[in-house]
Formats: sequence, C-alpha cells, structure tokens
Amino acid sequence: MPRQTPPVVAFKMNEKPKSPQAARLRQRKFELVCRFQIPEDLLPGSLSQVQIRCGKPTCHCAAGDGHPAWYLSFMAGGKKRKQHVPHAWVQVVRQSVEAGRQYQDAVREVLAANAELLALARKPRKQRQKRR
Ligand SMILES: [Zn+2]
Repeated sequence: MPRQTPPVVAFKMNEKPKSPQAARLRQRKFELVCRFQIPEDLLPGSLSQVQIRCGKPTCHCAAGDGHPAWYLSFMAGGKKRKQHVPHAWVQVVRQSVEAGRQYQDAVREVLAANAELLALARKPRKQRQKRR
C-alpha cells in the first residue's frame, strides 16, 4: 500500500472511556446483549472516505488532493452522526459494520418471516368461515 499522509485531525481514541455517559451506555448495552444474545461488537451505519483540507496554505492539499480521512456515519437517538475513524481502526470498523448490517438484515428477515407465517396460519380459518 502507498504511504499516505496521516490525517491532520489529531486525536486519540480512548478504547475504554470512563465517563458517566460511557458507563450508562455500557450498562444498557450489557442488559440488551444478555437479554437478546446480540453479538457485542457490531456497528451501525456506513464507513466512508473523504478528502479533508488542513488549512495550511503551504500544504499540498491547498491545491491538490486533500488528506484521506475515514468516517462512520450512523443514526443514534434519531440523529444522524458522523465519527472520525483513525486509519489503524478502519479494517476492524469495516468488519464490524458489515457484521452489523448482516445481523440487522437477519433480524428483519426473521420478523418478516414470522409475520408471513402469522398470515399463513390465519388462512385456513378464513376459508372455514366461508362455508356454504
Ligand atoms: Zn494539508
């Protein structure tokens, strides 16, 4: 792979945030994971790459291509959110997004199949009511 300029948006990702909000999220997640046996490391949304400009007038990005950066776009609490993903995390995040999509598809398909089966289960009764 060609060596790329590291993203200019410098930040450190905390793998185990300790804020009260993080604690609440972990507790709620734990309850749901136990209750429904949900795989723990799924991610929602989609991963996309954008080109960002750092704003330095002397940087190559001022005239040419920007610096590549990755974002995870997802819905949380009814709001559309965007989260920067460090290059080192892209592969893991991509796998978790794909696994999350497959899981959501599977849940939707099971629920839809149950609804179809419910409809099929009702049919004989309807026919019985139509007795001549
Ligand atoms: Zn730049």
